Amino acid sequence: MKAAVLRGPETIRTETVDDPSVPDDGVVIRVRACGICGSDIHVYKAGEPVGTVFGHEFSGDVVEVGKNVKGVEVGERVTAVGFRPCGKCFWCVRGKSHRCSDMALTGYQLPGAMAEYVAVPIAIPDRTVFKLPDEMTYEDGATVEPLSISLFSVKRGQPKESDTVAVLGLGVIGLNAILVLKALGVSRILASGRRPSRLEAAGLCGAHLVIDAAKEDALAAIMDATGGMGVDCVVECAGSPVTFEQAVEMAKGGGSILLVGIFEEPLLWDPRKVIAKNLNLIGCLGGNFPGAIELIRSGKAVTRHFVTHRFSLDEAGEAFRVQHKDKDAIKVMIIP
Ligand SMILES: [Zn+2]
Ligand SMILES: [Zn+2]
Repeated sequence: MKAAVLRGPETIRTETVDDPSVPDDGVVIRVRACGICGSDIHVYKAGEPVGTVFGHEFSGDVVEVGKNVKGVEVGERVTAVGFRPCGKCFWCVRGKSHRCSDMALTGYQLPGAMAEYVAVPIAIPDRTVFKLPDEMTYEDGATVEPLSISLFSVKRGQPKESDTVAVLGLGVIGLNAILVLKALGVSRILASGRRPSRLEAAGLCGAHLVIDAAKEDALAAIMDATGGMGVDCVVECAGSPVTFEQAVEMAKGGGSILLVGIFEEPLLWDPRKVIAKNLNLIGCLGGNFPGAIELIRSGKAVTRHFVTHRFSLDEAGEAFRVQHKDKDAIKVMIIP
């Protein structure tokens, strides 16, 4: 089959590789759509490990089912999450491999869905493999994973309808966070980002105030918009030391900061203000697939507007270039 393979810094080539064989506990999926994720771009820039096949935001048709799998059938239209526990850590040896601290992930340590076929190592219906409702397109199906992250993360902060929430960083996870906050009925959403296309998208998603952080100071703008009070919750999706510090400044006493963005470097920070203001710093890593599917199916979250570019598998190198460099790119999809 064909697969898009990382061959060095900012170098992706479409190559012929072996078809995946079906795992005993898993399935093989014919990929119909696969999004490029911001996390993929971090690895793409670094160029290693060479040989990586990206792709963890995908949908497709189940074409093979492993002999131990129950409840997943050939022909089902699905999205899925792929991982393989290490089998050796504290949790794995106690039979709790879902808590494994050293999972191999599809699209990183295991070959991902930027290929014609992808193997999902462990297939459990509604836990790792999720049927798409008939009315949902494959492309919508490939947007479930990033929405699931935003949904999981925002819910960690338990926002109330009366809250004012700031979203810092308007990649797809930040934009999806706005959709989720809107769907939860949060009354005031303040968003800050940099690329014009994403600022526009944030407005379309329903943010009440959109701040261009390239032109104005996001902290000053948010303090101004809240009469100097600050916000109840900050969703930090930028993963930068600057936005982290701004988050600490703009959070109200007793407020929460949800850490969602990927920090490329360790953070050096002064905890004194976090302590003085009784802030809750909440790390967020996880997804809520069933909830995300329902948000898209019901029309409460429309994610397809974020898909700005589509490429074939043969054009994967260009697809990555566009996702990384093109100012207008929000979500680039590969349609294998
Ligand atoms: Zn992702
Ligand atoms: Zn383990």
